[in-house]
Amino acid sequence: MSATPTARLMDGTRLARHTLEEAAARAEEISGRTGTSPCLATVLVGDDPASVTYVRMKRARCAKAGIRSRHIALPATTTTAELVDTLAGLSKDPEVHGVLLQHPCGPHIDERAAFEAIAPEKDVDGVTTHSFAAMGFGLPGFVSCTPGGIMRLLEAYDVDLTGRHAVVVGRSAILGRPAGMLLLARDATVTYCHSRTVDLPAIVREADVVVAAVGRPRLIRGEDIKPGAVVVDAGYNPGNVGDVDFDTARTRARLITPVPGGVGPMTIAVLLAQTVAAAANQLGVPVGTGPRSTGPRP
Ligand code: NAP
Repeated sequence: MSATPTARLMDGTRLARHTLEEAAARAEEISGRTGTSPCLATVLVGDDPASVTYVRMKRARCAKAGIRSRHIALPATTTTAELVDTLAGLSKDPEVHGVLLQHPCGPHIDERAAFEAIAPEKDVDGVTTHSFAAMGFGLPGFVSCTPGGIMRLLEAYDVDLTGRHAVVVGRSAILGRPAGMLLLARDATVTYCHSRTVDLPAIVREADVVVAAVGRPRLIRGEDIKPGAVVVDAGYNPGNVGDVDFDTARTRARLITPVPGGVGPMTIAVLLAQTVAAAANQLGVPVGTGPRSTGPRP
């Protein structure tokens, strides 16, 4: 006989909708007060179909939220120096409030050099060394969007992180590593796991909060989830499958994100919220700096 699912779902689709509505209201307020609506510049090198789709989705969401977007499509032959010039130009352009470089850009581009050409106050995707360091020091700045979305989900579902053992599986610069740093800033006791970790299941079994950020379908088995744990699955693998074996994990977890509809929708929502906050800061409108609601209580 199979066990009954007990976990409540953490509804990222719903929270993302609320976050976008809030961003739209703030964008309208900024435009009403200054006559200028927030503007996100998107930069794409080449025509990789997945990247083209991601940029199109981001721009469509911007339009829906009353955020202007300016798209710069560069040929695949663009050099690092040319890309750096483009990003530096956007960083100086007072009409642009946020700059997003869609990546990966291709093997011939030095992505780190390109990211560093984005001015920190316009780094709404949280990719610069400056933003990363600010996050590490607990200073104001923009966070990487997917970890930012994970934190908003945990907050919206009232997950108390103080003293809890959070196990982050994955340590990439855009996801696992910043997720662990943000959890630490909320007083969780954080363990990072990665491809060299010995006996991952044993460590997962100790976790009050599991953040899966690997990119391996169903790597984390339900039987290893501690009863009552909170499970956040950022993984997105072919076939709409996460990094956690959802069907078995939900029989033991207290809260769990579905895939899709959990972490995924939060990423663009955080990007837009940060774009509006950047515009507010640059235009001197004191919105986006005050306390932020995390959405309707689920
Ligand atoms: P990544 O850069 O490939 O990093 C994967 C991480 O997983 C690495 O730290 C790697 O360890 C670790 N890892 C690999 N195999 C492992 C194993 N068997 N056991 C434990 N750890 C292992 O990937 P990423 O960009 O962080 O993305 C991770 C997942 O999140 C992907 O499924 C991606 O599609 C998804 N994602 C979703 C969103 C969203 O918006 N929802 C955004 C970004 C990414 P090493 O460091 O040792 O190599």
